[in-house]
Amino acid sequence: MLDYSPKKDLLTDKVILVTGAGDGIGRQAALTYAAHGATVILLGRSVKKLEAVYDEIEALGAPQPAIIPLDMQGATEQNYIDMTDTIEGQFGRLDGVLHNAGVLGSLTPLEQVSIEMFNEVMQVNLTAQFVMTKALMRLFRQQNSGSIIYTSSGVGRKGRAFWGPYAISKFATEGMMQVWADELDDTRIRVNCINPGATRTKMRALAYPAENPETLKTPQELMPLYLYLMGDDSLEINGQSIDAQPK
Ligand code: NDP
Repeated sequence: MLDYSPKKDLLTDKVILVTGAGDGIGRQAALTYAAHGATVILLGRSVKKLEAVYDEIEALGAPQPAIIPLDMQGATEQNYIDMTDTIEGQFGRLDGVLHNAGVLGSLTPLEQVSIEMFNEVMQVNLTAQFVMTKALMRLFRQQNSGSIIYTSSGVGRKGRAFWGPYAISKFATEGMMQVWADELDDTRIRVNCINPGATRTKMRALAYPAENPETLKTPQELMPLYLYLMGDDSLEINGQSIDAQPK
């Protein structure tokens, strides 16, 4: 776990978009960013879940959040362009995006993975994140700064049997992060990955149904790294993939 104690006002005056903000790690990151002063934009496909997080943030007395209901499975490039215009209209700026939403797909030998399943996982875990970043880049370019964080996985660094499209999408995420980071190296826009490691969420329970969740770290325990990479203490960090639970 990263030994990092941020200031309570680390993210004051910053506007931060979190995808998959209704559950799991994304929900916790949204709450944590808000608690550190950020205006958080909650993006996800389940409005009910996003509204619950919205209410929790309001109860904290944190800056009023916003909700963007969007299913990344079906969203088009125009949806992301419109979303960027809405963010600009409402807040005038964007300081960071946490690309956290993801799907597991089915854990199946590659020989049995259907093209439909392959494409579904790639769409949410990779293509949508590329198209969203491309649209949001207009706002980051305007202020020549911003923190873009993608979410990787251990199976995005070393392939593992049966993890099929999920693992392939996470390798590609690492690659996409490196390409963006290299292209933006002469700007103050930085792009990095977080590998959360085994974490107590619905996705983990789906992948390991026999595991005792009590043995796993909670999303809250990962938050030092999520704060560090989003805030100004990491301005010099670009092109890195960092473990939230280093061995
Ligand atoms: P969860 O399944 O708990 O949460 C995933 C979130 O993504 C949910 O809010 C979900 O929405 C959202 N989401 C899924 N599909 C879409 C879509 N089509 N459009 C919009 N939002 C969508 O997963 P975790 O919190 O565990 O995972 C978060 C990230 O961390 C993922 O990228 C995952 O791959 C990665 N990760 C997790 C690990 C773990 O051990 N938990 C380990 C390594 C990496 P909804 O609630 O509506 O389903």
